[in-house]
Amino acid sequence: MLFTGDLRLHDHPPLRAALGGGRQVVPLFVRDGAIEAAGFAVSNRRAFLADCLRDLDEGLRRRGGRLVVRSGDVVRETCAVAAQAGADEVHMSGEHTRHARRREDRLRAALEADGRRLYVHDGVVTAVEPGTLTPAGSDHFAVFTPYYRRWTGHRLREPLTAPRRVPVPGTVTSEPLPARADVDGTSPALAPGGETEGRRRLAAWLRDGVDAYEGRQDDLAGDATSRLSPHLHFGTVSATEAVHRARCHGGPGAEAFVRQLCWRDFHRQVLAARPAAAVRDYRTRHDHWRTERTAAADIEAWRRGLTGYPVVDAAMRQLAHEGWMHNRGRLLTASFLAKTLYVDWRVGARHFLDLLVDGDIANNQLNWQWVAGTGTDSRPNRVLNPVVQGRRYDPDGAYVRRWVPELAGVEGPAVHEPWKLPHTRRARHDYPDPVVDLAEALARFRRARERD
Ligand SMILES: Cc1cc2nc3c(=O)[nH]c(=O)nc-3n(C[C@H](O)[C@H](O)[C@H](O)COP(=O)(O)OP(=O)(O)OC[C@H]3O[C@@H](n4cnc5c(N)ncnc54)[C@H](O)[C@@H]3O)c2cc1C
Repeated sequence: MLFTGDLRLHDHPPLRAALGGGRQVVPLFVRDGAIEAAGFAVSNRRAFLADCLRDLDEGLRRRGGRLVVRSGDVVRETCAVAAQAGADEVHMSGEHTRHARRREDRLRAALEADGRRLYVHDGVVTAVEPGTLTPAGSDHFAVFTPYYRRWTGHRLREPLTAPRRVPVPGTVTSEPLPARADVDGTSPALAPGGETEGRRRLAAWLRDGVDAYEGRQDDLAGDATSRLSPHLHFGTVSATEAVHRARCHGGPGAEAFVRQLCWRDFHRQVLAARPAAAVRDYRTRHDHWRTERTAAADIEAWRRGLTGYPVVDAAMRQLAHEGWMHNRGRLLTASFLAKTLYVDWRVGARHFLDLLVDGDIANNQLNWQWVAGTGTDSRPNRVLNPVVQGRRYDPDGAYVRRWVPELAGVEGPAVHEPWKLPHTRRARHDYPDPVVDLAEALARFRRARERD
């Protein structure tokens, strides 16, 4: 059983299939050298992953087994382990990035050359497998609402319980498990990982949080979202189980939460059909973006949370501190970079992937494209005004004061426009002037898009 983005024991169809008929199984995780070489294995996700692997190992040990960890080329290591164990089948979950698809093809070919068979199980990392729902005349939905309608009517499989026993042959050796403590450069307030923590969080969310979700999901200071995204990314919580349990719970909050889980599947089915959308415009607007070279100072101010727009800076600092950012923060900081500063969305997407513990190719790249207007948004030229966003989603300014201590002494919503403070008060706060004039920036963006 080759684990990838499905680091759990509950609701795990490939593990169940591998165990079928009481067989022994080698639960294998390979630290993929290609992912490391591509710079995707950043500190925050490595640390979270270390927690996940430890917890998975503990869960397996309670069931009479253990986890086998290897590093390097996934195909080579998996074939080696299969040979060592004398396995005739390898089971894994289907994944949807271009890298994952190629890896799967190579693995199938290599195993078959050795007389073994690869079984790839669909519908494990998403609730609905990409490609299951398609509109007439296309291989994927490009608009969310009709997708959501079809997705809601689609019957999901029933979630599986965790296996009681996982017998593992003693012959296969493992590297030592990575430890979170060995990872340098993580965000100071990074969340803990692992299935136990994920399940605890899901249960607590359904008990105490979800009922208030609708109406509060955009409240920046209220922090009233599930924070399940890293668990969904690493698969320590099953999307299928989360949908089932939320629907069982019922009510408008649970419905709004399930709708967000549908967004996750929506982006996956776009990426599965258009893998190049990870790096290229899904729909070009013929932009001539400012780049790392032409907008270096603006980009640096954005990354460091020093743009002079408090709500933007607050969100960017939350990202650095926690390795996570509120969805409303992601929307307004991405709009600020791509539209207000008119910087290539890939520059921002890369920075997010460098820090986000839930950093996910489908969700990150396609949300960035959505915000930049090169993706599936039906209003590609809308621009979020950071002052309006701040006043609407942080009406009292508490979120800004939490993350931008330089402005902690400014009371109420005035914190969103420090440049309007009387000169003597303004001078007391060591906080930068805005990097750009919003009206000029809007005019620049409109001019650029009119060229289309
Ligand atoms: C520019 C930008 C970049 C993003 N990058 C990522 C990323 O790398 N990884 C990631 O998981 N999410 C990403 N998102 C989507 C969203 O912001 C996060 O999933 C959400 O903030 C996570 O917090 P939560 O678990 O508390 O969400 P909740 O509000 O509790 O939602 C529950 C779950 O639904 C899914 N979800 C919610 N909103 C979205 C959405 N817009 N698109 C897809 N799935 C969604 C997530 O899996 C989330 O955990 C991005 C959004 C934007 C605008």
